[in-house]
Amino acid sequence: MVKMEFMVPREVRAELDRSPIAYVPWGAMEWHGEHLPLGQDALKAERICVLTAKRTGGIVLPPIYIGHQTMQLYGMPFTLEFSRDLVKELAVELLRQLELMGFKVIVILCGHYGREHLNTIKEAVEEYVKGGGKAKVLAEPEYVFAEDMGYHGDHAAKWETSIFWYFYPEYTHMELLPKDLSVKPKGVVGEDPRAHASRELGEKVVELIVNKLADKVLAMLREG
Ligand SMILES: [Zn+2]
Repeated sequence: MVKMEFMVPREVRAELDRSPIAYVPWGAMEWHGEHLPLGQDALKAERICVLTAKRTGGIVLPPIYIGHQTMQLYGMPFTLEFSRDLVKELAVELLRQLELMGFKVIVILCGHYGREHLNTIKEAVEEYVKGGGKAKVLAEPEYVFAEDMGYHGDHAAKWETSIFWYFYPEYTHMELLPKDLSVKPKGVVGEDPRAHASRELGEKVVELIVNKLADKVLAMLREG
């Protein structure tokens, strides 16, 4: 078990001795088309973190659903929008506490990629470092590890749909998208998932992300 919320203290101590890496899956509660769940960003990030932790060792924290610059700003329903200050403070406090617990490498994997959200997380990391933070921090959206495949982040479109579909076929509802391809799906940004998404693509891109992320994290741990 790599999920912190299921671990007893003895297991945490053993993992800190073996592999002091913390993974923080960070998403939002946000509209992702009619076909994907509202928590898709965090759920996707969590599964990627778990797969990576199984390679590298380390512990995965519970996913965070506190997003800034979400689809609420574009009028989409069932979406929670939080302020820049709140997101930043949460990230800084979390980094400080994870360091105190003994983690040497901390990965914030951003499954939600509003540009301002990503900037806020980066600012939090800078503040943590300026304040004397000693853990090595990697804070990136998952797509930076799959740009070789042409994935640069989208919203509930070809890529996010493929990844989520691969992880959670039972919660992916392609049948709820308009059948008529000339009708654009609401709140979907990127290549049309009806024409371009598949579980096979999801599997391939996840494999690439996990490989690259694991290599990067192990290198950070060695340098530390
Ligand atoms: Zn998303």
